[in-house]
Amino acid sequence: MSTTASDTLIAPVPVGGPDLPQERRMVTSIPGPRSQELLARKAAAVAAGVGHTVPIQAVAAGGGVVVDADGNSLIDLGAGIAVTTLGNAHPKVVAAVQEQVAQFTHTCFMVSPYESYVAVAEALNRITPGSHAKKSALFNSGAEAVENAIKIARKYTKKQAVVAFDHGYHGRTNLTMALTAKSMPYKSGFGPFAGEIYRAPMSYPFRDGLSGADAARKAISIMEKQVGADNLAAVIIEPIQGEGGFIVPADGFLQDLQAWCRSNDVVFIADEIQTGFARTGAMFASELMGIEPDLITTAKGIAGGLPLAAVTGRAEIMDAAHTGGLGGTYGGNPIACAAAIAAIDVFENDGMIERAREIETILTSRLSQMKADDPRLGDIRGHGAMIAAEFVVPGTGDPDGTLTGAIAKACIAEGVIVLTCGTYGNVIRFLPPLSISDELLHEGLDVLAAALSAA
Ligand code: PMP
Repeated sequence: MSTTASDTLIAPVPVGGPDLPQERRMVTSIPGPRSQELLARKAAAVAAGVGHTVPIQAVAAGGGVVVDADGNSLIDLGAGIAVTTLGNAHPKVVAAVQEQVAQFTHTCFMVSPYESYVAVAEALNRITPGSHAKKSALFNSGAEAVENAIKIARKYTKKQAVVAFDHGYHGRTNLTMALTAKSMPYKSGFGPFAGEIYRAPMSYPFRDGLSGADAARKAISIMEKQVGADNLAAVIIEPIQGEGGFIVPADGFLQDLQAWCRSNDVVFIADEIQTGFARTGAMFASELMGIEPDLITTAKGIAGGLPLAAVTGRAEIMDAAHTGGLGGTYGGNPIACAAAIAAIDVFENDGMIERAREIETILTSRLSQMKADDPRLGDIRGHGAMIAAEFVVPGTGDPDGTLTGAIAKACIAEGVIVLTCGTYGNVIRFLPPLSISDELLHEGLDVLAAALSAA
C-alpha cells in the first residue's frame, strides 16, 4: 500500500518561540511532502499575484529558525522581511497578546478609546529622533502609514507635490505604488497611479560615485526646476533603502536634503518601516544619518509580528488634519498595541541595539572575506542587522541578478532563508532576527559561501 504525505510519520508540531531547538535540520528536500500539499492548495485557492519565496509550510518559529510541516528547521536570515526583529513568538509579546486578547479584542479607537493606543503613541513620541513636541497616529500596515504621512503633509503645507527617490519602495496601495520606483513586480499593469508624484535621484555611492553633497545638489536641482518648492508638500525617503537594494546614501546626502526642506516649507518624511526599531544598530536609522525628520513612518518591527504601523512627527504638523480626517476601523488594534508596548520595552531594555551591532560585526567580517576572495561580490553595505551583498559581473560591474537568484535558491534548498532585493535583483539582504545565535548565523554564512563557490 502506498503512503500519502499525510500518512508520513513526522515529529509533532513543536511550540514556537526561543525554546525551539536552535539548529538547521533537513529531514526532506524542500519542499517536503506536507509543504507540497499546502503549496498545491495555495495554487488552487490563493490569487496568483501573492507570491512566496520559501516553498515550505511554516508551523513554528523562534530564536533563529523557522520549522516546516515536514520537520525541517531552517535558519532564518529574513525575519519575515524585517518584522520579527526580537525573534518570533517572543515570550513577552506572547504574554501581552494573550492577556489583551482575553480582555477585549476591539472597540475601534475612534469609537471607544483605550489606554494601550495612547501608550504606544507616547512611546513613539519619546523614542523617535528629536526632542521637539511630537504626536502619533496608528494604522495597520506600512503602506497605510505612508499614505497618511502624505495626507498630513499636504494638509499642513496646503501644497500637493511629493518627491520620492530612485530605488525607493513605499508599498503597494495606489499612492504608495506611485511613490515606489520599481515597475516589476510592484506596479506593472496596475496604473493609473496617483498624481503629483515626482522622482529624484538617490545617492548610491557604489554606482554613482558621488559625494553626499553632490548627490544632494542633483536631487535638489530636480526638486527646484521640475517641481518647484512652492508646489512641494513633502519629500519622502528611506534613510537606508530596503527593497531597492539596502542602499546607504553617502554622508551628508540626507542632511542636505533635510536642510533644503526646512528652508523651503517642505515636510521631510523618513520612511523607517524597514530600518526602524534597533534593526540598524540604532533605534532608528535617522540617528545614524544625523537627521531629525519632520515625520517618520514605522511598521514591521514595531509589534513583534502583529500588524501595526504609525506616523510620528512634529505636533504642529500631525495636528494639521481635521478631526475624523485620519483613522480606520482597525488602526491601533488593542492586541497589536499590547504587543507593541511589550516589543518596545524589549527594544529599549533588553540589549537589542547592542545585539544588532554584534550581528553587523559578524555579517560584515564574513561577507568582506568572501568579497576579498570573489570579484562577483561587488559591494557589502548596511548597518546593524540590515546588511547586503551586491553581486556583479566582474570587470564590467553590471548587476548580476541571475547569479544572485541562483545563490538565494541554493541557500533555501540547504535550509537557509535568504531574501533578495534591489532594482536589478542583484542584492542578497541579511535581516536576521536579533535572537539568532552567533553559531546559527555563522552556519548560515557557511551555506552562503558554499552556494557562492558552487554557483
Ligand atoms: N516602506 C518600506 C520602507 C518598506 O520596506 C515597506 C515594506 N517592505 C513598506 C513601506 C510597506 O509596508 P507594508 O508592506 O506593511 O505595507
